[in-house]
Amino acid sequence: EQAVIQTDLRPMDRLMDSGQGPAVRFMRTRIERMAARWREAGENMKLKISHRATRRLKVLLYPGVLAGGAGQRFGEMVERGGPLGELVQWADVSTSLFILGHDLIFTVSQTHLLSLIGAVPGKGSCPILRPLPFDLLYTDYHGLAHLQGAMGLSFQHYQCRFRILDSFGTEPAFNFGEYARRHGYNTAWGSWNLQPFQYMTMFPHTPDNSFMGFVSEAVGDRWEKNTKAQKKDDMAVVYGKQDYMWQGKQGYLEAISGVLEIHGTVYETPGRPAALPDFVTNHGLLPQDRLQQLLRRAKLFVGLGFPYEGPAPLEAIALGCVFLQPRFQPPHSPENSNFYQGKPTTRQIHSQHPYAENFIGKPYVWTVDMDNTTEVQEAVRAIERTEVKPFVPYEYTCEGMLERLHAYITHQDFCSASLPSWPPEGALSAQLGPLGQSCVEVCRRASLVCEPALFHHLNHPAAFKRLGLICASTEREVDHLFPAYNPWGRRCSLQEEVRLFSCAGAHPSYSRLCPCRAYQPGQVALCPLCL
Ligand code: UDP
Repeated sequence: EQAVIQTDLRPMDRLMDSGQGPAVRFMRTRIERMAARWREAGENMKLKISHRATRRLKVLLYPGVLAGGAGQRFGEMVERGGPLGELVQWADVSTSLFILGHDLIFTVSQTHLLSLIGAVPGKGSCPILRPLPFDLLYTDYHGLAHLQGAMGLSFQHYQCRFRILDSFGTEPAFNFGEYARRHGYNTAWGSWNLQPFQYMTMFPHTPDNSFMGFVSEAVGDRWEKNTKAQKKDDMAVVYGKQDYMWQGKQGYLEAISGVLEIHGTVYETPGRPAALPDFVTNHGLLPQDRLQQLLRRAKLFVGLGFPYEGPAPLEAIALGCVFLQPRFQPPHSPENSNFYQGKPTTRQIHSQHPYAENFIGKPYVWTVDMDNTTEVQEAVRAIERTEVKPFVPYEYTCEGMLERLHAYITHQDFCSASLPSWPPEGALSAQLGPLGQSCVEVCRRASLVCEPALFHHLNHPAAFKRLGLICASTEREVDHLFPAYNPWGRRCSLQEEVRLFSCAGAHPSYSRLCPCRAYQPGQVALCPLCL
């Protein structure tokens, strides 16, 4: 049976029934609110992919974060300022898969999960291999642990069908268990030995994972037609749903309040008002559509430094706001930040929202030293004077997300033993990095992106030769920095373990061989002509 694009979203009501709690209700409300945009994007996709048929897949969607007792607590936090980013992404992934015509089951119940995969509740894990009735399973780190408990032997056998929604990403050195243990990359989250592309991130963090993303808000057509230049109030909205996020930021906020009126959407417990400076107008936590209305009136969206890398700044920019955020000097990382500590990444975070800073930038995004009142005020005055149009990077539109997911479903196959053939070798631009630089960095400096699926083309002596290197010796080792060249002794090192091909990672003794490729404007996940 072939997958046929669906633009009538009504069957999604049955898929996500709201008896499943406040988190699922949040997702449904989101899907309904965005239905018209999804439909239009679906129609456009029909034209784009009409010549290519894909098989209709049976897909299980299991957000483990919402399952069990811990899941219930997470769900309850939806109405109290808890994290919503994951829910935004789950709603959008589910909708995309539905529109692409696949056969979906969505559940947040562990018991339901057991019956779906054919395990017997209470009997522990099953010692025999049972057929798995799904082609693909989308879950998260929590869900992986539930699946491992339930599937027994089948877990390893079918793990190539898993797709893990992993907001912040997992670098290969942390994913490969044995290597992680031996080299100090052991964390609470890693070591599942999947293919690094099976982890799907919220933003294009490390190219070692697949960038899944989500859909940003956008100004509706009606509004766009009526107002050419935007009418905005002299008003700033602060990014921070809970009052602890505002602590210690008084000076920064005062500097801004000298220019713009400050509004917040901070959750308040009945009878206990949020602890905010008195010049702030607080609206309480708002439903997404009301937050949107507020952002449409505002000129500025103000980052406090936390939460990191969430969806809200993209939404604000999509609604015509400028995003002002703190620079981190020194950068935040698992070494110095409680939040990133234990996360399976070595990334250095130079501002609250690196994607906003690096992929969007001025005039939409201003990154400042929060403690330098003069710099903050000058930035806010300059922002007040400039007029910006609403902006959504293409990869965060419905169509961009459908395209990307369609490409992944068509081309990513982790169950076959053969080396990846997508993107095609023709997309490869081989680069020799300077000592001490990661391939993420090397490719970025060439205005390209690192593409781990092309590493295997560089993992042989001929590739060194083509880059002008003469090897005194060539060895093959298990090391996430390889293939690489060490000029002291002219040593050439090849990679022994394909799961350790990694764009991330740098060492002062090594020049890395980097597989870079070009990307479509606004769609970094796809190379030109690669859909
Ligand atoms: N949000 C909301 N009401 C509010 C504040 C935020 O519905 O008063 C939504 C917002 O639209 C965004 C989501 O919360 O889509 C996630 O926001 P954030 O960037 O803070 O990420 P999180 O830390 O929650 O994952």
